[in-house]
Amino acid sequence: MALPYFMRTRPVVHPLLLAFGLLICAKDENFAAKPQPQNTKAAASPAASAPASSPARPTTKPVVDQTAQVIIFGYHRFVDNVRHPDTEITPAAFEAQMKELKDRGITVIGMQDLLAWKRGEKSVPPRCAIITLDDGWKSQYEVAWPILKKFGYTHTMFIYTEGVQGGHFGGGQAITWEQLAEMRDAGVDIQGHTATHQDLRKPYDKVAKKRLSPPEYEQWLQNEVAGSKQLLEQRLGVRVNCFAVPYGFYNQHVKDVARNAGYEAMFTVYGQPITYNAPLDSLGRYLIEANKPKVFEDAVKMISTSSGGGGQPVAEVATTNLSTSPADGETVRTALPLIKANLSAIGPADPGSVQLRVSGLGLVPATYDPKTGTVAYQVTQKLREKTCTVILSVKSGGKKIEAHWTFGIDETGAAASKPLSPTPTPKK
Ligand SMILES: [Zn+2]
Repeated sequence: MALPYFMRTRPVVHPLLLAFGLLICAKDENFAAKPQPQNTKAAASPAASAPASSPARPTTKPVVDQTAQVIIFGYHRFVDNVRHPDTEITPAAFEAQMKELKDRGITVIGMQDLLAWKRGEKSVPPRCAIITLDDGWKSQYEVAWPILKKFGYTHTMFIYTEGVQGGHFGGGQAITWEQLAEMRDAGVDIQGHTATHQDLRKPYDKVAKKRLSPPEYEQWLQNEVAGSKQLLEQRLGVRVNCFAVPYGFYNQHVKDVARNAGYEAMFTVYGQPITYNAPLDSLGRYLIEANKPKVFEDAVKMISTSSGGGGQPVAEVATTNLSTSPADGETVRTALPLIKANLSAIGPADPGSVQLRVSGLGLVPATYDPKTGTVAYQVTQKLREKTCTVILSVKSGGKKIEAHWTFGIDETGAAASKPLSPTPTPKK
């Protein structure tokens, strides 16, 4: 069950006003308990074409692929001679992992893409990874970033503000504010990881070496969670909406404080594939360490074998190349659609390898005509959900290829029959 923090997109507001507004919202239990996936139905609702009186809500929403999966990796230091295998990795091992993502057809996306997907605003490719670098080490700027750029990957930096050079923990190996600004300018996502990187559940300030009274603890926690966010935002002119909890240690109170501070998502260190409905207040990351190479392997296998490929690399093909019907993002007026795709663009399919899966139905007996390259299936029992995902897999020259697309179903035709509403077009 997802517990979304904030379902609306926020215009730019003064951080204090924002925090105050969110504080009120967060105390409203109805708001907090509202189920998330309603967003996807907006396109079919009659209200969808209402004038833009509330700028916070887009008037139409694309139908997003709810079957995608995202794995998030966390790294710390990049060194040639590993002395602390729990936080270090060699540049060569890191580069090999980045290459493996590419080879396995796992798309590296940005953190904001993940959040937009979970808000129901856009689709992400079926299998994705996000690269996050923790704690602000200089080697992230000097070693990891050039490797990431080589692959064209974007990434997220989780920074604790006292760990930046000049801060209480910012020694010679720490990243500088100037380096962070340069990364920001290049599109790197910079997010929060507290002020002093301590266990937020404990009323003890290691920096001040002081046990904290309950009011002192609240003030300290506020500074760790909200104060550090504000500092990052003001120092770098960015919007910080993600919070990585140090060591993955948190409790409900820490979560509440983070939500009230305006974070949209919270990250732990318990890696797992992120699904569309995964709760935003505890998104698991895989922390990759030199002495546990299996963690990376297991993570990529978790999502690359989920299609039944048995660990075999799967190439994704864009549905626009397959002239699918219904098109990706389209809304149709029947719950008994004819589903079609044309495989000519990918070359000859191995006989008998064509498989078509439809959400709610599973594997269906689709026909494949090798002459025209057409795969077709006429749905014979009404699709019950308002969105339908199709997964087409095929082998061509021994290589497995997959395409995913999603369409909406609106039998009333309320969305399509509005005189001024344009013909739905595929969105990607
Ligand atoms: Zn950390």
